[in-house]
Amino acid sequence: MKATLPRTKAKIALILIAVVIIVSLGIRIYNSYRFHLEKQTRFMMDTYVTLYAVGPEKITSRAIDLALDRMQEVDEKFNALNPESPIYAFNHRNVPIADEEILNVIRYALKVSATSGGAFDITIAPLVKLWGFYGDSPRLPRAKEIEDTLSKIGYKYLLFRDGKLDKTKADIAIDLGGIAKGYGVLQASKVLLEEGVASALIDAGGDVYALGKKGRKFWKVGIRNPRGEELLGYVEVEDLAVMGSGDYERFFIKDSRRFHHILDPRTGYPAQDLSGVTLIHPDPMVADAWCTALFVLGPGKGLEIIDKISDMEAILITTEGEKLYSSGLKHAVKGLGEFN
Ligand code: ADP
Ligand code: MG
Repeated sequence: MKATLPRTKAKIALILIAVVIIVSLGIRIYNSYRFHLEKQTRFMMDTYVTLYAVGPEKITSRAIDLALDRMQEVDEKFNALNPESPIYAFNHRNVPIADEEILNVIRYALKVSATSGGAFDITIAPLVKLWGFYGDSPRLPRAKEIEDTLSKIGYKYLLFRDGKLDKTKADIAIDLGGIAKGYGVLQASKVLLEEGVASALIDAGGDVYALGKKGRKFWKVGIRNPRGEELLGYVEVEDLAVMGSGDYERFFIKDSRRFHHILDPRTGYPAQDLSGVTLIHPDPMVADAWCTALFVLGPGKGLEIIDKISDMEAILITTEGEKLYSSGLKHAVKGLGEFN
């Protein structure tokens, strides 16, 4: 009996070690299955869209494919330059828009127009065209051309008739470029959820939506500096969109002045006071539209409005380089020594 006791103990110890090894191996395999990170990039909406999804490979690859397909569908349908789109038919042939999906986005765009006092206006298209921002060689129009074109701008010339969007003036044309990308991102996130992905990041050329967390951690999203390569800092997010509008995306310089693609519907010229806006909101479509709206509104009015809209935070960077934070955000941005 005495002699066999140590052997039994050794056996138990061996079995315990084996159990520990098997369990930890099992946990590893299980985690790599659950927390596998998959990534795919496609060019659309004028930019590179990258989707990252966490989960079992079988689920993530299919979900990413379908989500990117859905975004591409939104891009084609909402693109004012696509001759097949209802937007093109509305702009060029005065065909009322009946597509329910487009109408819903337009309804929201009109709300933003009303709340922003017309700073956001989807009837901006004739101005975008005049400035040449639909092509590769934008130019500074003459003052008279701008003045003439301003008579074709105004969301008040849009109306709903028999459930369709119509216009009260023939040369009204719309451009959903300030909101469609956000809507596309929202749709992609819905597809991911439907396909069983609860953890993903959609990056549409720096406009980001974080679905759930990155496994057990938050997603980290960088805040761009409009005048430099380095980031201003980053935020840690979950189920939030972080969207940007800037004077650095499409612009030209003439007589040392910068002219860019976010136009003030009230003056006909590029919005003056800001060089960048980063906006955070749970809904990427809301974030996209308001980002453009705030850019046009400028720092004073912009911050005032933002503090009245729930769940919305923003960082505004003036052309002088001053950084302005909405009340809830100042302490959430990390990596900014002086602000933390
Ligand atoms: P990006 O699409 O470059 O990320 P934005 O979301 O700020 O940037 O959208 C800019 C686009 O919105 C422009 O290219 C134009 O199509 C459209 N746009 C420009 N000015 C306005 C405006 N005042 N209101 C609504 N849309 C605008
Ligand atoms: Mg926008």
